[in-house]
Amino acid sequence: MARDLRLAQTAWRDMGPRVRAGWLRAWRGWILDHTDELTDLLVAETGKVRPDALVETTASCEFISYYADHAEKFLAPERVGSSGLLSLPKRLSRTYRPYPLVGLIVPWNFPITLFLMDAAPALAAGCAVLAKSSEMTPLTCARVIEGWQEIGAPAVLQHVSGAGDAGQAVVEAVDFVQFTGSTATGRRVATRCAELLKPVSLELGGKDAAIVLEDADLDRAAHGLVWGGIFNSGQVCISVERVYAVDAVYDELVEKVAAALGALRQGAGARDDVGAMVTKEQVDTVERHVQEARQRGARVLVGGERGTKGNFFAPTLLVDVDHTMSCMTEETFGPTLPIMRVADEAEAITLANDSEYGLSATVWTRDLGRGRRVADQLEVGAVNINDVFSNLFAVGLPHSGWKSSGMGARLGGAQGLRKYCRVQAITEPRMPVTTKELTWYPYSARRTAIAGRVLRLAAGRGLRQRLGL
Ligand code: NDP
Repeated sequence: MARDLRLAQTAWRDMGPRVRAGWLRAWRGWILDHTDELTDLLVAETGKVRPDALVETTASCEFISYYADHAEKFLAPERVGSSGLLSLPKRLSRTYRPYPLVGLIVPWNFPITLFLMDAAPALAAGCAVLAKSSEMTPLTCARVIEGWQEIGAPAVLQHVSGAGDAGQAVVEAVDFVQFTGSTATGRRVATRCAELLKPVSLELGGKDAAIVLEDADLDRAAHGLVWGGIFNSGQVCISVERVYAVDAVYDELVEKVAAALGALRQGAGARDDVGAMVTKEQVDTVERHVQEARQRGARVLVGGERGTKGNFFAPTLLVDVDHTMSCMTEETFGPTLPIMRVADEAEAITLANDSEYGLSATVWTRDLGRGRRVADQLEVGAVNINDVFSNLFAVGLPHSGWKSSGMGARLGGAQGLRKYCRVQAITEPRMPVTTKELTWYPYSARRTAIAGRVLRLAAGRGLRQRLGL
């Protein structure tokens, strides 16, 4: 499969960004025409509620649109100015040459979004793509890739399913690895890529903090935290995993969050807000975090129990929590909101940074300048002020995890596409050249002396240095 993809890639590369954009747009059309089918399939294989699934099957087309529209500009060769006298006789440029085959390893929480946000720029760049979805959720991703084949697009996109060994095989077969998943598996993938000297970009786990300050709009904060923590049953890398509320507003915030959380309907029906989780193992993790918190003195104000059937866990509000508890330090990846009382902004920042993860965070305040100042002190790749998730569909912004949350970045305008390319430096003479340059062979004392003066002229700064006075 990898060999066939490589064979097809050269023609794909050579057809140029404008023709490739045409195929990407046709694919977007196919996806939108099949939204109902894809959404039903996604609901069936993940247990998501339909509104959560719809975000995947529709909003993710944004990644296709953006890179189809911008690829030609982002891939255009760039002229580079001379850096000094030595390079002055040359015209300098850099060009972007796609990696032949990119491997995408995708987790189970967003089988389409997390595939499309990397497949779109990689294909637009001119790469072939081999995508491996999680063994838990292979169906919808495979169907979206069938769509590529159904529109008659060049054979530069293929899907493999299977467990971790299939992921390992993808790592071996491709030229660039884009991995999204847990930090533990990401480390293994990075280790193997280091052995193979293969470029890799990692989007890993998170433990995103929310900071609620005393001047926040508490109604908006409460609703935002509930959606940001519970959307997709909390199985979002950038979901709100822990909340720090300053003392002055803590009680009022908890009351509002409890009311909003308590009103959520959970189930598999058309009118439900919160669906099931994808795997039983993840429900076990959520249950363990809640139990451990209880044992250490936390109180459960809403929810706190797993469902009697299916992979359900009730939307849960935990209070009286602290950093001795796994619910505040480990990735829960489930529908829980632990809220901790803090004295002030400074303590909130210190605790938010007290994590091995650094994916993103939210800050809730009416003073946007203050929000930016807090953002500046947070050790995370993205900060949303008075909102959750909004950086994700702002394709011009990078999505990157700091610390154990990742290595490299995805999206982010031109960079999101150029990461799938090797950069080639080109120099060409600006003017007619002689048979030999002054610094070439054969050496002689006279030529060396002249070359020395020329090199000194170039290297020095100021008359004294340049002329050796
Ligand atoms: P895993 O790390 O378990 O799996 C991720 C993918 O890697 C799956 O397709 C998996 O296959 C595959 N895989 C497993 N072992 C290997 C291996 N040795 N070599 C190569 N590939 C392998 O993560 P989850 O699927 O559990 O996903 C949840 C995690 O993803 C969470 O930590 C979450 O925070 C993170 N995530 C990060 C995002 C980000 O942008 N930073 C976005 C979304 C999620 P299989 O499942 O078949 O075993």
